Amino acid sequence: MLDSGWFVLGPELLAFEREYAEHCGAPHCVGVANGLEALSLVLRAWGIGPGDEVIVPSNTYIASWLAVTHVGARPVPVEPDPDSFNIDPARIEAAITPRTRALLPVHLYGRPAELASILEIARRHGLRVLEDAAQAHGASYRGQRLGAHGDAVAWSFYPGKNLGALGDGGAVTTRDGALADRLRQLRNYGSSAKYHNAEIGFNARLDELQAALLRAKLPQLDADNRLRELIAQQYLAGLAGASPALSLPSQASEARSAWHLFVLRHPQRDALARRLAADGIGTVIHYPVAPHLQPAYAPLGWRPGSLPIAEAMHAEVLSLPIGPTQTAEQTDQVIVALRRALAEIDRH
Ligand SMILES: *Cc1c(COP(=O)(O)O)cnc(C)c1O
Repeated sequence: MLDSGWFVLGPELLAFEREYAEHCGAPHCVGVANGLEALSLVLRAWGIGPGDEVIVPSNTYIASWLAVTHVGARPVPVEPDPDSFNIDPARIEAAITPRTRALLPVHLYGRPAELASILEIARRHGLRVLEDAAQAHGASYRGQRLGAHGDAVAWSFYPGKNLGALGDGGAVTTRDGALADRLRQLRNYGSSAKYHNAEIGFNARLDELQAALLRAKLPQLDADNRLRELIAQQYLAGLAGASPALSLPSQASEARSAWHLFVLRHPQRDALARRLAADGIGTVIHYPVAPHLQPAYAPLGWRPGSLPIAEAMHAEVLSLPIGPTQTAEQTDQVIVALRRALAEIDRH
């Protein structure tokens, strides 16, 4: 890539788009600058803007909401199913209004959302479905990889994701060729032919360097995800019955998770994290504050208690270490330390 002297919109990007589309089983892939741009450019391409509403999960990383806000539309949160952490399809229809334009499910922590019900609701109400798959590279739903179930699927290649670049990156996969063409124009100043600008576009491209690195890493994605799955299974077996207060992630029968994160719940989450830290085990909270309670969203007027399922989750979730370089011995160390910490907390 360096020798070619071609740094933006060149052959590496084209090759990566082709290879990632194929990996996802999607006809089209458009590389963009990051996951947030992937989400917001799709909403923009669909003409969603001021006065419109988009249904989002109450329990997600804030970027899913930000994309809606950035196009001038209103994010309308729907509570999750506590068992899956993902948007509860049974609660979606009550949130649909005449202003609703799209559903934005998130495959949180790598576990596919309940797409069959979500797509059926969207079809009944004439809504589009934009999937946020930023945490779910390689995951599958009913035997088919994520990437072409909904009308568009947004991906992030932030370094910490299952498929990560060495910097920022993102993409959209879709069955819709016209949408793909529109996104190619939007990401490049609204231009399809050099120095001819059909619309007010953006600079939101995926670099050649990142595309080349992603091409080198993509062939490893499935093996990496398999290693994550083995760690998850080791945790599930090693922690089963460890404490009545502990709840472990469930596994969907119709989906295969990418195990981006291994997230458990415990009412004394902070005490648990402190005890694990004392044993040299790092944990992270994904996420400590729900989007509707962030200062950024104070103008929408949500109050504590208004989305109680998400708020309870944010108070109890804890992510254990997981990743393709983690050894079985390291996973065992976490299990031993966690069992000890749980026993101590249960005694108090
Ligand atoms: C990481 C992430 C994003 C944003 O992706 P960036 O590339 O960091 O902009 C969006 N949604 C979810 C669920 C994410 O985890």
